[in-house]
Amino acid sequence: MRPLPAPDLTQTAFFLDIDGTLLDIAPTPDSITIPPSLTDDLLALRARCAGALALVSGRTLENIDGLFAPARFAAAGAHGAQVRPDPDAVIGHMHRPIPFELRSLFTALVDQPGMFIEDKEVTLALHYRLAAEGALAPARVAAVEEAAARAGFSLLHGKKVLELKPAGTDKGAALRTFMTLLPFKGRRPLFAGDDVTDGYAFATLKDLDGIGIAVGRSFPGAAYEASNPSQLRGWLHNLVSAP
Ligand SMILES: [Mg+2]
Repeated sequence: MRPLPAPDLTQTAFFLDIDGTLLDIAPTPDSITIPPSLTDDLLALRARCAGALALVSGRTLENIDGLFAPARFAAAGAHGAQVRPDPDAVIGHMHRPIPFELRSLFTALVDQPGMFIEDKEVTLALHYRLAAEGALAPARVAAVEEAAARAGFSLLHGKKVLELKPAGTDKGAALRTFMTLLPFKGRRPLFAGDDVTDGYAFATLKDLDGIGIAVGRSFPGAAYEASNPSQLRGWLHNLVSAP
């Protein structure tokens, strides 16, 4: 496999997914653990690239801040429904509330053991990693998808997760927004991700002459591949340890 890139830190803007990319996927979003050195390496990398580092996650900004506390990072939360270029900015209510009827319809998809709803307020995520194969009937999902579209929302199909979110927001759109702003602007974006929802970000890299690293799988738009989060973390550590 091709070795991971050695980007010029003075010219690169880093965009990093969290779950499955920096961290190993856990059975539930709350059972995640941050390796002790990861936060230190991210802070060191941010210092080396003049602040041009953002986390780009399906988690909300509030949740991301909780994971890395007391450190705070520039970030896109809830698959781009929340974008915070300034790590110290207050998280505002920058999203449209999910209509009650749509919320009920989506929540009703949960009818088997091992399925559960994670209410992120900005979005609703239905996790089915622990459910039996075929637990989520495609016909029922399609019906919810139609109702969502009518209300200006859409369904995002992730890795054993289905997410209801505002239409038109995704990780690719978030990456483009960051790239119009300092300290990201004028740099070459590097994005690392692992999930189908990261495809939107990989797809934007072509226009921006960006560098893509896919973790645990290959992706159109990602010229590099890491086998797993551990390898990606090792690569990050080496980047900040080099003189
Ligand atoms: Mg991920």
